[in-house]
Amino acid sequence: MKILETKQQLEKWLKKNKSPAFVPTMGFLHEAHIQLIKKAKRTNKPVLVSIFVNPKQFSAGEDCSTYPRDEKKDIAMLEKEKVDALFIPKKDEIYPKDFQQEIFHLPKKFNILEGELRKGYFQGIATVLKILFDLIKPSYVFFGQKDYQQNLLVSWLVKKYSYPIKIITIPIFREKDGLAFSSRNAYLSPEERKAVPHIHQSLVYIKNLFDEGEKNVKNLKEKLKKFLKKEPITSHIDICEILDAESLEKIETITENAIVLLYIKVGIPRLLDNIILEV
Ligand code: AMP
Repeated sequence: MKILETKQQLEKWLKKNKSPAFVPTMGFLHEAHIQLIKKAKRTNKPVLVSIFVNPKQFSAGEDCSTYPRDEKKDIAMLEKEKVDALFIPKKDEIYPKDFQQEIFHLPKKFNILEGELRKGYFQGIATVLKILFDLIKPSYVFFGQKDYQQNLLVSWLVKKYSYPIKIITIPIFREKDGLAFSSRNAYLSPEERKAVPHIHQSLVYIKNLFDEGEKNVKNLKEKLKKFLKKEPITSHIDICEILDAESLEKIETITENAIVLLYIKVGIPRLLDNIILEV
């Protein structure tokens, strides 16, 4: 596997490996990242993974400087998967001193939920993805359903700039007990770790109620919150919403596909999870 630290090294590699299958990450890799890579390998394109903890998507007081890192382990995992190249730039490589941040006029669905909770978050993600897409010109990019609102942003960005990129989204990959894999799970204490599968159980419970005929959003949301609060460790609910799956607009009754979105603060991290209610 080629390890590329500079844009120059990346450009040189791209000359022989045009329009790769690209998997952007923030590192501290886990099984869900590996699933994305396996999917990328199936395209038969050269597979390029990036590791970059993007400072522009963190606001003051968030965990940018303490975000978990283990480069050695990440590299070993990527080599095992026979990834063709890893792009692992330093901050100044992506944001040189004279970098001028573009302001994106984002649709209103990015001012709510995580966009409201984390100021500048989606501007930061759009900024870094545009830089990476312009540099790499991938044919495919791979994302996970766990970051649902982020994926809508990727679709918006690709459409807005007419990138000839196919976006592939994989379902949420979970531990055996249902917890969605996340680099931030490393922050959980043993007691918290034991309790957090309750989050996924709450989503399954709501999906079952929906499948049995409950389509009223107010009722479903009340039941979801009540279920989450049965476990003190999952009772700090930052976001609990059931919205139109595309527009993220509020709905009263589910007549089109809806998305149940949870952001639960457990100790240090905020855990994200979601489930689609398909009509
Ligand atoms: P991150 O390194 O956390 O920025 O994640 C990189 C990519 O992996 C993003 O597209 C995430 O949505 C995806 N991802 C992270 N965790 C999961 C998971 N449990 N299931 C599916 N995709 C995931």
